Amino acid sequence: MTININNIIALGTGVLGSQIAYQTAYSGLEVTAYDISEEIVKTNRKRFEELATRYEVEVEGARGGRAQAALARINYSWNLADAVRDADLVIESAPERLDVKRALYTKLGPLAPERTIFATNSSTLLPSALADATGRPDRFLALHFANEIWIHNIAEIMGHPGTDPAVYDAVVEFAQRIAMKPIKIRKEQPGYVVNSLLVPFLTAAQSLVANGIADPETIDQTWRIATGAPKGPLQMLDVVGLNTAYNIAAAGDEQARANARYLKEHYIDQGKLGQESGEGFYKYDTAPQVRARTQSK
Ligand code: NAD
Repeated sequence: MTININNIIALGTGVLGSQIAYQTAYSGLEVTAYDISEEIVKTNRKRFEELATRYEVEVEGARGGRAQAALARINYSWNLADAVRDADLVIESAPERLDVKRALYTKLGPLAPERTIFATNSSTLLPSALADATGRPDRFLALHFANEIWIHNIAEIMGHPGTDPAVYDAVVEFAQRIAMKPIKIRKEQPGYVVNSLLVPFLTAAQSLVANGIADPETIDQTWRIATGAPKGPLQMLDVVGLNTAYNIAAAGDEQARANARYLKEHYIDQGKLGQESGEGFYKYDTAPQVRARTQSK
């Protein structure tokens, strides 16, 4: 049986939920952006206007009305039952807490039609930790995006052992329709592919700095010259943000916790939070960069 995905709901309109909803609308599909109260929906609505402006600057072909036209395909809702009444696909980007997400799925399950596929954008929770709460484990999986999805256009797709392969394939196809490169993950893996590679790499770079082995410029330069990569790990950490780096490090082993203390003392406590704050390992000119690019499949 063919699974059609036309009616899409984005649950949560924060940093990632707004990007997912906007990218879906930008790709020509109707989308409903749901959040938990009228006030939050109204506040977060600004994110969509800001995204349209950023697309005009950063995405080739978005000017001349295309970025603005996408806004008209976004419907807003703070009534969960209304929002999901006829949903084909619900993409959940609620706060990264097991209790919050489980409570949400427990409420959502009975409100959505049987056919509706639920996908979580969770960065750290495995689908199997949520599957039973959905009431439809066979139609549940992870669809994980990267921040600034119009630039870093990958979608990591990861089921749990009970996910129906036809549902998995339908979500892969949906990801392609919204101009994402689908990354098919065959088994559950904390951190998917990207963070399974990135977190140990960035941790190693922090350890080199915190243990006084080499300074950030030397480490980054070494990596760039030796591998041809455009950025070194400390430059990457400045983009991620040092608060996020701190939170990940603080939950790690002894060396990682020492790295967290180093980050706090030498950077975070001095307001150096990375690129967005104007300074981290490096100083930045905070004027917006023009990075026009074509969205390709
Ligand atoms: P955020 O805090 O910016 O947004 C969360 C939104 O969810 C808020 O608008 C909040 O009002 C809403 N919300 C709260 N309770 C809800 C509920 N019960 N139902 C629906 N919405 C609810 O968070 P974020 O950074 O967008 O992260 C959301 C999810 O996306 C997390 O699972 C996170 O792991 C994942 N994610 C985040 C990033 C990132 O870089 N920020 C990248 C990839 C994935």
